[in-house]
Amino acid sequence: MKISIIGAGIGGLTTAIALKQKGFEVEIFEASKDFRKAGSGINLAINAMQVFRRLGVYKEISSLGSYTDSLLITDEKLNIITKVNLVNAEREFKAKTFAIHRATLHTILLNKLNGVKIHLNKKLKSLSQTNDEVNFIFEDGTAYTSNILIGADGIHSVVRKSIFDNTELRIAKQACWRGIVKIDIPKKYQTELNELWGKGKRFGFVHINENEVYWYALANYKTDYEKEFSNINLEELFSNFSPLIKKIISKTENNDIIFNEMIDLKPISSWYYKNVCLIGDASHATTPNMGQGACQAIESAYVIAACLSTEKNIQTAFYKLEKIRKKDAKKIVKTSWTVGKMAHLENRFGIFLRNNIMRLMPKILIEKQSTSIYKLNY
Ligand SMILES: Cc1cc2nc3c(=O)[nH]c(=O)nc-3n(C[C@H](O)[C@H](O)[C@H](O)COP(=O)(O)OP(=O)(O)OC[C@H]3O[C@@H](n4cnc5c(N)ncnc54)[C@H](O)[C@@H]3O)c2cc1C
Repeated sequence: MKISIIGAGIGGLTTAIALKQKGFEVEIFEASKDFRKAGSGINLAINAMQVFRRLGVYKEISSLGSYTDSLLITDEKLNIITKVNLVNAEREFKAKTFAIHRATLHTILLNKLNGVKIHLNKKLKSLSQTNDEVNFIFEDGTAYTSNILIGADGIHSVVRKSIFDNTELRIAKQACWRGIVKIDIPKKYQTELNELWGKGKRFGFVHINENEVYWYALANYKTDYEKEFSNINLEELFSNFSPLIKKIISKTENNDIIFNEMIDLKPISSWYYKNVCLIGDASHATTPNMGQGACQAIESAYVIAACLSTEKNIQTAFYKLEKIRKKDAKKIVKTSWTVGKMAHLENRFGIFLRNNIMRLMPKILIEKQSTSIYKLNY
């Protein structure tokens, strides 16, 4: 049986690794001409790292990434509002959290795909299905056929639009800047991910290796983020934050900063149609407020391969994937949306109330909430 994957992002590559390990014949089609060095980092939580352990890439990620032992939300001046210590969860699930350069993660995943054909510069245009085959055409006019097609082509998925016509992207009205900087910051931040919540904006930073810090900044906008922030000076926008933030921004090369807006996919009722199935952001894109988008993609990638290897019937395998993964992925999308709104309050009294309620929340409850995300139910 031949399986073709559209998209060589984290979701597509992980799916290919999992399928290859189950003995399937796989090939990947990717729109980009080459794998450019993505200028941002990514946090891989304990759920994703458990999957990566099963797939045999844990060691590489842990040696090339940076270990994170706690997640903190603070006010603008880095005064702690809440802290999740990950050590208990690490013990329970026998995996740790790592932040890593996206390009490094990409290389690690690609290295696991020896023998898998990756066609670059292949942007999917359309597809059609017969009973047991999928035919698909690229923008360069070439056409291919496969038994199964997996759409791992991200939030704007052409595969999704080809099989469903009623899906909806939601705009969070938050603009986002991301950067990587070589910088010395106080030692205590070496193993922490800190997110500073201000008035209608926030700033997060985490080490991705010994020398480099990955940071992200978000701010509310009203109607047009590109226009409203076209002449923005980030140092000024975050001037009321801790002086460390100014230092991080000022040391970052301007050209390397990625700027976009936050959107998600309103949960869709099904992830497959006949022999075509969606994976990752194509099926369950979330806002990044819980750092779970890729982690969820990694989980779904593992599960789809497991289901296809145990079920003879393709439809049953896809049905099982949905049954195992859909509820959890939907919960992340919903919770993440709410967290994003809470983080960006603009009203002073609302902020005061939110911070104090969060400060008073029992530690055990906070840890329990986050560890429920890390449990794999397959
Ligand atoms: C600001 C920000 C911070 C984030 N931080 C985190 C984090 O810390 N932790 C975490 O787990 N997640 C995080 N995420 C989410 C994470 O980036 C995504 O969930 C993840 O990258 C999704 O992977 P994917 O492979 O499904 O899709 P994508 O990464 O979007 O990959 C899709 C691939 O398909 C290709 N493609 C698209 N269209 C076509 C086509 N027509 N034909 C062929 N190929 C095509 C694209 O070129 C791309 O290579 C963050 C997201 C954002 C925006």
